[in-house]
Amino acid sequence: MTSPTAVPTPRPTTRPWITCVVPAYNEAESIAEFLRALCQHLAGLSERFEVLVIDDGSSDATSQQVMAQPGPIRLLTLSRNFGKEAAISAGLEEADGEVVVIIDADFQHPFPVIDEFIVHWQLGYDMVYAVRRERNTDGRLRRQLSHLFYQIMSRMSSISIPEDAGDFRLLDRQVVHALRCLPESNRFMKGLYSWVGFRSIGIAFTIEERRSSSSKFNFLKLLDLATTGLTSFSNLPLRLWVGVGSLISMLAIFYAIYILVETLIFGNPLAGWATLVVAVTFLGGVQLLSIGILGEYLARIFNEVKRRPNYLVAAKHGFTKP
Ligand code: UDP
Ligand code: MG
Repeated sequence: MTSPTAVPTPRPTTRPWITCVVPAYNEAESIAEFLRALCQHLAGLSERFEVLVIDDGSSDATSQQVMAQPGPIRLLTLSRNFGKEAAISAGLEEADGEVVVIIDADFQHPFPVIDEFIVHWQLGYDMVYAVRRERNTDGRLRRQLSHLFYQIMSRMSSISIPEDAGDFRLLDRQVVHALRCLPESNRFMKGLYSWVGFRSIGIAFTIEERRSSSSKFNFLKLLDLATTGLTSFSNLPLRLWVGVGSLISMLAIFYAIYILVETLIFGNPLAGWATLVVAVTFLGGVQLLSIGILGEYLARIFNEVKRRPNYLVAAKHGFTKP
């Protein structure tokens, strides 16, 4: 267990009404089996539960597979692939449960952890997140880059995002309502969970191997997510350049004085084109880099001001209201 954020008050309700939010993108191969197993497990936990699957624009028969399943299952089909963060946001928007559990559709998140979530919720925690014991299911490069990302994030951002905690978590209804109030288009859910606060606790779990196909996140998608995380939760990359600029200017002044003294006192002829070339190219690089970072923020501001919805729903199944 890691870092509780506040002293919790135990809850009187023993068996809460559970909504399970399941983002699914091209999971037709195993989603039927997954939903059967999940419903069976949830039935042992509470009399009242529902599973809300968000088909994130799958190109296979994910939606059809879900609709063919019996049980308290609702389905939201998005109009295209909007990404996991948007799919989760869509799920949270529609989730009615007293507690909401977010879980992947690929069997990587073991069901018994949900029991532990509920126990901690009953103890009074509003958010219980699962922390991976190890990341053996990820490749070495992904593990190292992910560690680097969390290191950078913890230094640059004022909110603390627990390392190795993902979307597999339980949220109290209160937390769900808080998350619904966040209107941003650049959604980095791991940051938003931390940003809203509430009494939170992490519990360790061992992640399973993916049951079918392979991860839907390639290097570029992960890089984009990491940039969204950094730019959404830190202004340091923007501010850094004040420091870098000041330092370079100071060095330039000292160097100018040095050249002046050398020329006036020692009468050295003008030389040093190599120094000039190095200085010009170095400064060119620094300027392009800083403009690039500015551009990154600008692009995200542009995205925000367009105020486009984060996702569009193409079809609903199992909903009483249209
Ligand atoms: N997913 C999604 N939209 C996407 C990519 C993934 O809804 O664009 C879902 C996917 O179906 C799965 C969960 O998000 O239920 C986690 O995806 P995946 O297993 O590919 O990621 P990883 O476990 O490698 O982080
Ligand atoms: Mg997975």
